[in-house]
Amino acid sequence: RSSAEKFEFQAEVSRLMDIIINSLYSNKDIFLRELISNASDALDKIRFLSLTDKEVLGEGDTAKLEIQIKLDKEKKILSIRDRGIGMTKEDLIKNLGTIAKSGTSAFVEKMQSGGDLNLIGQFGVGFYSVYLVADYVEVISKHNDDKQYVWESKADGAFAISEDTWNEPLGRGTEIRLHLRDEAKEYLEEDKLKDLVKKYSEFINFPIYLWTTKEVDVEVPADEEESSEEEESTPEAKEDEDTEEDEEKKPKTKTIKETTSEWELLNDVKAVWLRSPKEVTDEEYSKFYHSLAKDFGDEKPMSWSHFTAEGDVEFKALLFVPPKAPHDLYESYYNNNKSNLKLYVRRVFISDEFDDLLPKYLNFLKGIVDSDTLPLNVSREMLQQHSSLKTIKKKLIRKALDMIRKIAEEDPDEYSNKDKTDEEKSEMAEKKGQYAKFWNEFGKSIKLGIIEDATNRNRLAKLLRFESTKSDGKLASLDEYISRMKPGQKDIFYITGSSKEQLEKSPFLERLTKKNYEVSSSSLTLWTST
Ligand code: ADP
Ligand code: MG
Repeated sequence: RSSAEKFEFQAEVSRLMDIIINSLYSNKDIFLRELISNASDALDKIRFLSLTDKEVLGEGDTAKLEIQIKLDKEKKILSIRDRGIGMTKEDLIKNLGTIAKSGTSAFVEKMQSGGDLNLIGQFGVGFYSVYLVADYVEVISKHNDDKQYVWESKADGAFAISEDTWNEPLGRGTEIRLHLRDEAKEYLEEDKLKDLVKKYSEFINFPIYLWTTKEVDVEVPADEEESSEEEESTPEAKEDEDTEEDEEKKPKTKTIKETTSEWELLNDVKAVWLRSPKEVTDEEYSKFYHSLAKDFGDEKPMSWSHFTAEGDVEFKALLFVPPKAPHDLYESYYNNNKSNLKLYVRRVFISDEFDDLLPKYLNFLKGIVDSDTLPLNVSREMLQQHSSLKTIKKKLIRKALDMIRKIAEEDPDEYSNKDKTDEEKSEMAEKKGQYAKFWNEFGKSIKLGIIEDATNRNRLAKLLRFESTKSDGKLASLDEYISRMKPGQKDIFYITGSSKEQLEKSPFLERLTKKNYEVSSSSLTLWTST
């Protein structure tokens, strides 16, 4: 188009797109959940704005907060449309190409060292996964504050933006059109899309519809069809007579195939956290975690805690310990106050950028909090000041620390489980080494907690683990250390250094172990990156 403005992708984004385009990654499915997740985010945003200003939703269909998927088999186009907040021209330029996020280069690096493309969403660059399946993509978007625009790119280093004067007006929101590559034709099959939505996007909080075309059997009078061929020669009155007479010889009706199309709802729009924990299966928790955390690795969360807090401040919460620490957990630790919890008020998503819902050291947890006590119709800033938040925070910390303590208690390698029966032990076999794993991923957070959270210091101290000269290659708790202390021993001996080998050669260590004292040490690798 001649009126289109051309832009170059920011260099890192361009590299990222090259990687995706040339990827041999076999699980191309992931693009769909990334697009649905973006649509859901956009819907969350407009719904949030509508709390203080109903007008923003518009009227009629535009006000419907839903996601629609449509297939065009002939043109090989898959389109996904939402009635979310939409993007202004400037948003399109910035968000889809010219501004790299912190995750962009991190992800490029990961991919170059053989990382898993599946994790793309965690790096904040999920959109570009469209180029796993498409060679040309159009993003049509309408934001309340701007006209409708089309962004388009063939992933050749550049994209173009034009004011949209030819497509159907969207009202508000975004439609993404993927012109599928030949190898990606399978995404034009309705069943394939239904499966994918079921698999990855079951817990999206907005209805997802697929435009489905069905062949249905319709019963029509047997004569009617014949009559249409000989319409003129067979008067209707006679036709009726015939039917009555020949009742036994030929059937009155016959079945023909007819195609009908309709919007089919693909998800349940159920809020897992509002259900009773007894009714939610482990698999559902696991799947919910994956979609919440955008963590689509193979692993289940290490643990979760689903509870209702009652009293002055009522809320429901679902907290997860992820299977692995995210790539940037400690990267910006000291200047990042953002927790990974999503805050809802009566099922309406408010923010996932609330400072201070959890203390910094618990930032590795993922989860959601849904409060009945907080007011809905106030700004985020006002909500942030609300007195209930202090209570919520306090309870969340308690529950989080309980959950972590339980991982340790249920771990058969742990000291506290020495007296378990064989049966109990085999039940817990699956959890073997879980706490060591937890410690390896998040131990540093617990140590930071000891420094930062004086109120919970004792609780946190119970979660500490150390390597030690008497722990037989395992991790030891302080309690274990104390239980093994020599009569009259008053101190805990602790040594630090830059490597295990170096420590083993330490003359101090030798002197103590000779006297049969136990000496502990922190797992050094946890500290070297600070
Ligand atoms: P992330 O979703 O983690 O921010 P993405 O690469 O998936 O990263 O999307 C990049 C950005 O593009 C989003 O942050 C958002 O601003 C914008 N965006 C993408 N899809 C939509 C959409 N359907 N509606 C509105 N904005 C969108
Ligand atoms: Mg996204």
